[in-house]
Amino acid sequence: MNIALIAHDKKKDDLIRFVLAYKPIIEKHSLFATGTTGKRISEETGLSVHRFRSGPLGGDQEIGSYIANDKMDLVLFFRDPLTAQPHEPDVSALIRLCDVYSVPLATNMGTAEVLVKGLERGDIEWRGVQKERED
Ligand code: PGA
Repeated sequence: MNIALIAHDKKKDDLIRFVLAYKPIIEKHSLFATGTTGKRISEETGLSVHRFRSGPLGGDQEIGSYIANDKMDLVLFFRDPLTAQPHEPDVSALIRLCDVYSVPLATNMGTAEVLVKGLERGDIEWRGVQKERED
């Protein structure tokens, strides 16, 4: 599965801790991230991460394009709801595309835990079946 990891600045520490806590599950998958988030994840967890541009410089839109092309299976987006973001339209667009394409999306750690446990249990394997049917 392809997993997108994104965290706003004040949530980056939380995401790093989350990735470390669930590393045995997460490391079995292909990881993608916005620029700064991806740099920190690879440096602090040792995992290999494909990095897009930084979020405010278009990284959210790059991940959106992967979603629109059916190349992203799960999105973990640790949003900061208390700080205005200069790229708020991009954030909304990314969330909207997850809804358009029924891509499982967590916008906080509570939901991320449920999704990662579901990922381990095989709950998201329907995405692979759906892709095979479309080919
Ligand atoms: P960043 O982008 O990982 O480059 O900080 C995240 C975001 O704010 O969308």
